[in-house]
Amino acid sequence: MFLDTRPGREDKANEDYVSATVNSTSARAVLLDGAGGPSELPTGCDHGTPWYVNQLGDHAMFYMRDPKMALTTALAKAIDAVADSHGVFCDLNNPGTPSSTVVMARIALGRVEYLVLGDSTFVADVNGTIQTISDRRIDRVAVAEYQQMAALPTGTPEHQAARIAFVTKQRRLRNRRTGTGYWIASNDPEAAYHAYIGSFPADEVRRIALLSDGATRYVEFGLGGWEDLLNVLDSSAPERLFTEIRAAEASDPAGERWPRAKRRDDIAAAYLPDWAA
Ligand SMILES: [Zn+2]
Repeated sequence: MFLDTRPGREDKANEDYVSATVNSTSARAVLLDGAGGPSELPTGCDHGTPWYVNQLGDHAMFYMRDPKMALTTALAKAIDAVADSHGVFCDLNNPGTPSSTVVMARIALGRVEYLVLGDSTFVADVNGTIQTISDRRIDRVAVAEYQQMAALPTGTPEHQAARIAFVTKQRRLRNRRTGTGYWIASNDPEAAYHAYIGSFPADEVRRIALLSDGATRYVEFGLGGWEDLLNVLDSSAPERLFTEIRAAEASDPAGERWPRAKRRDDIAAAYLPDWAA
C-alpha cells in the first residue's frame, strides 16, 4: 500500500486528504480534495478547508467500516456529523463554506465498491483493463468564466481576478436542488446521493488507486497513461508521481502548455495493490 499527499505551495496548508486501512479480509480508503478557493473570497467559516477535509475524511472512514452500510449512507452521515461540528459563528449558508470532492473505496464481502463525487478519480485494474471513474459534472458549469481564466497567464493579477470570478460563479451553482448546478460534499448530506457509485467482484480487481486532480495531472499532462501511473505507484519509487508532476508544472509556470487554475496543486494518492494475493 502507498499513501501520500503534498501541498502545492509551502505557504498554504494542504487541502487534500488521504487515509486507508487494510487487513486480510477487508480494506477501505478515502481521498478528499477540499475546495478552498482564492483567499480573497469569504467562506463564513472560522475552521477552514484543511479542518473540513480532516473532519470529513475521518468521519467517512469511521462510518464506512460497516460493510453493510452503503457508501452513500456512510458519506451522508459523515457530512451531517461535520456540519454539526462547525461552531455557532460559522455561517453554513455562505456559498464559500468549505467543500470537498470525495473518493471512497471499500473492499469487503467479495466486492470492491467505490463512490466518487467531484473531480477526483478512482482507478481500478480489473483483470488487466483499467477503469477510471471521475465526476466531471463541475466542468459543465461556469464554462465561460473558465475559458476567460485559461486564456490568461497563470500567476498574473489578471489571471487571479479571472479565477475569483470563476470560483464565485462555481460556488453559486453548488448543491442546488433545482436548476443547473453540481453536487459536492459540504453541509448538505443530500450530496452523497448524487455521487457516482459502483462495484466490481473483488477477485477480478488486481489493484486500485484514489487520486486528486493534482495527481491526475500525470495523465492530463501526458507524462504517462493510467497504467503507467499505476506502475509508478507500484514501483519501489512511488514518489516519482510527485516529482514528475512538480517538474512538469515548473516547466510551464505561466500555464501556456497546460492552462490551469493553480500553477502547482495539492497532490494526494492512495494505492492498494493486490491485497488478495
Ligand atoms: Zn466552521
